[in-house]
Amino acid sequence: MMGRQTGGQDRLFYAFDLDAIVPTNHLLRGIDKFLDLSALRQHLSSFYSYTGRPSVDPELMMRILIVGYAFGIRSERRLCEEVRLNLAYRWFCRLGLEDPVPDHSTFSVNRHGRFRDSGLFRHVFESVLARCMKEGLVSGEGFAVDASIIKADANRQRGVPGTQEIDWNDPALTTRPVREYLAALDEAADGASPRKPSKRISLTDPQSQWTAAPGGPAFYAYSANYLIDLNVGVIVDTETTTALRTDEVAVSKMMIERVADRFGLRPKRLAADTAYGTAATLAWLVEDKQIAPHIPVWDKSEGKDGLFGRSDFTWQAATDRYLCPGGTSLQRYRRTFKKKRTGITKDNTIIYRASKYDCMICPLKPQCCPRTPSRKIARSIHEEARDHARALAKTPAYEQSRNDRKKVEMSFAHLKRILKLDRLRLRGMSSANDELLLAATAQNLRKMAKLIWRPPKNDGIIAPA
Ligand code: SF4
Repeated sequence: MMGRQTGGQDRLFYAFDLDAIVPTNHLLRGIDKFLDLSALRQHLSSFYSYTGRPSVDPELMMRILIVGYAFGIRSERRLCEEVRLNLAYRWFCRLGLEDPVPDHSTFSVNRHGRFRDSGLFRHVFESVLARCMKEGLVSGEGFAVDASIIKADANRQRGVPGTQEIDWNDPALTTRPVREYLAALDEAADGASPRKPSKRISLTDPQSQWTAAPGGPAFYAYSANYLIDLNVGVIVDTETTTALRTDEVAVSKMMIERVADRFGLRPKRLAADTAYGTAATLAWLVEDKQIAPHIPVWDKSEGKDGLFGRSDFTWQAATDRYLCPGGTSLQRYRRTFKKKRTGITKDNTIIYRASKYDCMICPLKPQCCPRTPSRKIARSIHEEARDHARALAKTPAYEQSRNDRKKVEMSFAHLKRILKLDRLRLRGMSSANDELLLAATAQNLRKMAKLIWRPPKNDGIIAPA
């Protein structure tokens, strides 16, 4: 049976009113103003029995978790202790002076049980986002997307090479993160082709990815992905993935679609870094979603060592060929085939080749193709989308987006430095996702409190009645 918190602050057993003690300009007062958990009991009702011993009030647990993520209190044991002792935390959690604080073990039971099954953390994140929209902080005109590596709660020493056989039935390894990892493997085996094994696999959190920042030591990590609105940097969606660029790009598309479905937000522009500038992603944005990609084009075709790059060749759409600096053409086919060919490679490119007889006698050959008989150019089947992104990169709006993109980087800096989430507290992909949803909820609440809330101008203490 779902319990309800009894007692409360209206019972003045003591000599002072808790509400009068908490400073009027305390950040939690601002957060409380924008946090509405009235729909939470309804959302969870089917996950509780109507009989039996009353549980801890889920709203109380959610408020305690929000305190933890908003103030960077990493341990649930310490969080419960802080709520027990801190009057402002007690006030925010609707606890009276003598009300007991739930035991820290209650949180892990509910996190991995009802809260996860019911999608509670996403429900609360979305209700806070809806409030941000209601307060006019989300314009929906432009979004930015980015990913940041967050260390997993996995010791570097507790891992084995990815190619090594692991006996997952070993009782010492039958933990919840391992069970989740094996379930994810089974799911993946039904769909796409198997992935290349990771260099190392953690035995404590096998879903984390062995990764390294440039120049630093390798460690196990996840990727935190944020989609933010460019107006004031409200986080409109978040998702955790493995720390692989392909997964980060794939989830960015999923987040854009989810925000459109859930809130009807369809941005006109998307700002992102080069990792998102692949031909397929640009084509998806331009052709499928009609979103202007303010993204640098992922391009390896520019010339190195002073050699001609692709931009030195002129595309002639009408005749389906490139014109080289020497004045000759690069064509898709140089002979006729009995069976018609598309000429599209498995990388979704079309190869245009110059004639080796033209190149052989060309005075520009040392600058063009000194080590091959003739020059060839790979053109993506999405080249028009790439050209569109290149053209946008010369506009003032793109320059504006480049500056605006810093807002998503600032959100990650805030997440890691202020909320102290530079290392995850829980193991497994789903727990990492729960943590990120809670942290993003806390960030959006803090943003509303900072930008909209205006505390009364006095000494911060309400005089007791
Ligand atoms: S080497 Fe060949 S492709 Fe390059 S400029 Fe000369 S003719 Fe054109």
